[in-house]
Order: sequence, then C-alpha cells, then structure tokens
Amino acid sequence: MHLMETYRRLPVSFVRGEGVYLYDEKGNRYLDLVAGVAVNALGYAHQELTRSLCEQAGKLLHLSNLFENPWQEELARELVNLFWTRGRVFFCNSGAEANEGAIKLARKYFRERGEERYRIITLRNSFHGRTFGAMSATAQEKVQRGFEPLLEGFDYAELNDIHSVLRAVRKDTAGILLEVIQGEGGIREAREDFLREIQELCRAEGLLLLVDEVQTGVGRTGRFYAYEHYGLEPDILTLAKGLGGGVPIGALLAREEVAKAFGPGSHGSTFGGNPLACAGARVVVEEVKKLLPQIERVGKYFKEGLKKLEVGEVRGRGLMLGLELEKDCTELPLRALEKGIVINCTAQKVLRFLPPLILEEVHVEEALSKLRETLLGVV
Ligand SMILES: *Cc1c(COP(=O)(O)O)cnc(C)c1O
Repeated sequence: MHLMETYRRLPVSFVRGEGVYLYDEKGNRYLDLVAGVAVNALGYAHQELTRSLCEQAGKLLHLSNLFENPWQEELARELVNLFWTRGRVFFCNSGAEANEGAIKLARKYFRERGEERYRIITLRNSFHGRTFGAMSATAQEKVQRGFEPLLEGFDYAELNDIHSVLRAVRKDTAGILLEVIQGEGGIREAREDFLREIQELCRAEGLLLLVDEVQTGVGRTGRFYAYEHYGLEPDILTLAKGLGGGVPIGALLAREEVAKAFGPGSHGSTFGGNPLACAGARVVVEEVKKLLPQIERVGKYFKEGLKKLEVGEVRGRGLMLGLELEKDCTELPLRALEKGIVINCTAQKVLRFLPPLILEEVHVEEALSKLRETLLGVV
C-alpha cells in the first residue's frame, strides 16, 4: 500500500531460487522462463557467483570513481576483448543509463569534431528505457504519453524498411540506435539484409551505429554480443540486464576513437562499476563464454518445440524467443503460474521466453509440457 502503482504484479511471493527454479513461500516450485527479464543469466544461487559476491562484500562494496578501480579495469578488458575492435568501457547501473550515456557520447563525438550533428534515428516499437533521453529514443507512444515535451533530436523509422531510414537521415543526423532483436517490442528480429544496409548507410554518411544490447547482450542469443550474428561493427554498444547476473550494472562500450570524446568530467556515475557489481559481472562473463554452445543448442531445441505447438509464429535466437498468439496473452502468465512455470507476455500478444542461460534440454521438455497445459482451451 506504500508503493507507487507502476507495475501490475502477479500474486506470488518467491522466497528463493536454485538453478532454473524459483520457490514460493509454501515451497511450490516453478520453472523460470523469464529470469528477472533476462537478468538472472546464471539462474539462482549460482555457487561461483555467490562466492565471488560474498567475498567481495567482505572486502569492499563501494569505491568512489575518484579512485583507481582494478575491478572495473579487469571487467572492461574482458568486454573489450570480446568486442570487434579496440574500445573502451564506461560503467553505470542500468540499461536506461547506458543508453543515456550512448546518446551523450554520440553528441559529444560530433561536437569535438566541430560538426553540428546531434540527431539520432531509432525504430518503431523499440525500447531503450524510461529516463528522458532513453524514453525519447523509444519509439512507442504508450511509453511516452503524458511525459511530453520529450528530449529533442530523435527521428523514428520503421524496422526492416531501409527506405524509411533513408528518409529520416538529415544533415544533422549523428547516428542510428537499434536493437538487433526488439525485446519489449515483441521479439521482433531485424532482418540480415536490413542490418547490412544500415551498416553501409552508416559508413557512407559517417553516421555512428549504436546497438542497444541491454537485452540481447551477454550470451542471450548464443553469441556473446548479438551483433556478431550479422557481422555488424557497432561504434557504440550498450549492456545491462544479464551482465551482473542479478547485481545492477550497465555498461557503455565504444570503439577507441569514439570513446575519446568522453574526457575527464564529461560524464559520470556515483555507483557505476562499483567493486561488488564488477565482481559479479566478472563471474557472469566467464561463465557465459563457456555456455555459448549450450545456449545455441538448447535455444534451437526450445524454438523447434515452440513451433511444434502450432499456436502461432515463433521468433528469436538462442534463449531469447517469442511466440506470437492470435489473441491477447496478458492473462496467461497467471495461468502458467498455476501450472508451475513463470512466463511473460509482451506487446499484448507475444509470449516471451528469456530463461536463465544455464537452461538444459530436460528443462525445455518440462517447459513445453507445462506450456501446452497452460494454452489448453485458450488458444
Ligand atoms: C530493459 C531494456 C532497457 C532498459 O533497461 P533498464 O535497466 O530497465 O533501464 C533498455 N534497452 C533494452 C533493449 C531493454 O531491453
């Protein structure tokens, strides 16, 4: 009764988790296919993650960015080693914050070069976060309504329609920001040819390519970064959600030349990249690197199983999957809880699956059988 009613919450109280399962206060077990919306990448009570966090908590939780921070340095080295080129990292605490940083960096990059280019093209149905910059980038009326005036400088184009992107380019356009698979928008995949044309457009016009991998990043799609599937070369990339395995952390990566536009005092964060969050993320990155083949394999198996249900279109890659139903699915997560699975409905009609990345084939079997029960007589 004391919380703002910003969320529609399901009537269940989870008290602990283990592996891919959650337990409520009565001891009932649920197979979790949402993982805190792509956050709990290693599932629950992961031994190495727990050990690392406890050990770090006993030494140093927080350290101001006034001081050297080897935890950030080590994590950044890992992230850059996995990036397509040399780059640098800025740490923050969430996806929205990472995108705010990305927007600021894109503007600053052109200012430093003495060019008046600041506008950013984003795509319909995208989701980039709830803060003013990120919300203004989010081309969805339902997210923006009531909060106008929005931040100036965003132009919207259609996903998979290169002509609409070309029409949105102006002489003061700085870059294009996109998700290679729209998550909140309903697991909508950017087509390979569309992304190739975007990349070519960016090269030809000197635009920055900003890829929002807050949901797709850190192994979710079977590659460490989802852009790798398409051979993209992003100038700026954002991460959050799965990166900390449950500890809040976000990151902004940029290739070296772009990153240089942020000098001392240009951007900052009090909590960003504190030792606790970095200690957690280090373990997540290590473990996810080993899990990539499994994510790809189990993801394919899950996707095939969803197709066999024959209830709607199945989309997505790795362990980021969507099943679009003919009708509204907002009531299904509650029904699913009664069957012992946690699922999510997004964009009205899309069941979205973002399980912990440690998911195995046996869990997929269980998921599909319980999903079949949930859908029985409904679709
Ligand atoms: C969730 C999400 C965000 C916002 O992240 P927060 O941590 O909630 O601020 C931004 N972009 C994408 C693609 C997301 O899925």
